[in-house]
Amino acid sequence: MKFRNFKLVGYVIFGRGAFNQLDEIIAPRRKGDAPMIFFVDHFFEGNQPFLSRIPLRGKDKIVFIDVTHEPKTTYVDRLRDELKAEFGEVSGIIGIGGGSTMDMAKAVALMMTNPGSSADYQGWDLVKLPAVYKAGIPTLSGTGAEVSRTTVLTGPTRKLGMNSDYTPFDQIVLDPELISNAPVNQRFYTAMDCYIHCIESLEGTFLNAFSRSYGEKALELCQEIYLKKDRWDDDADEKLMMASYAGGMSIAYSQVGVAHAVSYGLSYLLGTKHGVGNCIVFDKLEEFYPAGVKEFKQMVDKHQVEIPQHITKGLSDADFETMIDVSMGLAPLWENALGKDWQTLMTRDRLRKLYEKL
Ligand code: NAD
Ligand code: ZN
Repeated sequence: MKFRNFKLVGYVIFGRGAFNQLDEIIAPRRKGDAPMIFFVDHFFEGNQPFLSRIPLRGKDKIVFIDVTHEPKTTYVDRLRDELKAEFGEVSGIIGIGGGSTMDMAKAVALMMTNPGSSADYQGWDLVKLPAVYKAGIPTLSGTGAEVSRTTVLTGPTRKLGMNSDYTPFDQIVLDPELISNAPVNQRFYTAMDCYIHCIESLEGTFLNAFSRSYGEKALELCQEIYLKKDRWDDDADEKLMMASYAGGMSIAYSQVGVAHAVSYGLSYLLGTKHGVGNCIVFDKLEEFYPAGVKEFKQMVDKHQVEIPQHITKGLSDADFETMIDVSMGLAPLWENALGKDWQTLMTRDRLRKLYEKL
């Protein structure tokens, strides 16, 4: 196939307070007395005012998602098994949280109908059957997980998404109020994931007018929020939420690049989380993205955010080899960043030197 035919999210609702409409949005999706399952980021455990707004009916259940570590295939399979044992069938799964919780919701929704382990479906277009109904409600913005056709999972042998036409959400609820209380550092790391998506897409060899249109807009929004504004306000929440959406749309039709390829290695070996890992890497990528890195450093300074340093100090040769293997396995990312001849440009030696700088 010459052009990819992309499956997008089904329905989108945007606006301050949109979360209050969740009950009516999901009502037509209820199947008899099969419950809706709400996957809620464990950050909200005990937050009664927030939890009381979740429209529980009948046998509906809230499951708190532990996102101390990024989603693993074993966690996905366990939750699927528990839900099947308790309810047999469910009407749907609603993920309320950051990228990790939204990815868990997508993955478990897929595994409610597809047999075996989620590890069997890490890759491209391996999922065979449609998922149960699934909706995503971000409480952190930047990853673009709300719009993407993947759900990133760490499995027994790799960190790779279940990338398929069945993966995008049926519904997303974009309510800027829900991201307003995120801690400054966490919000910055996740927002920079979006900023980095834009730079990698706009500077990449896969760029086309579709990706450029979304990428430029998302970049402009990030610049407004993090460079032009003097303080965080409601408008910043709204713009960040839309930047994440547009950034996700931009990479849908192109690819990410060097920062992601390198940070996947960190995350696989050290468990470094996606947002901060991308920041750690991007901070050292002047040779690939000079203008973007300069602007990134201005944002870091202005917001006085700490970017961890020397995290690969003291690692063994075997550790470096593992990270290099993981990173080199991400051929499409390297090809987008460096072109068809990427293997002559990014040697294992050069990559090792880059990892040593982090
Ligand atoms: P996250 O979901 O891992 O959450 C980070 C931390 O913030 C957690 O401690 C969480 O409890 C907390 N948190 C969430 N909402 C909060 C709020 N409103 N206030 C305070 N704390 C809050 O962070 P993330 O950066 O959104 O997501 C990273 C994940 O997204 C990774 O697992 C990554 O692999 C995945 N990802 C997926 C895609 C995709 O297309 N599917 C793209 C990029 C990244
Ligand atoms: Zn990312």
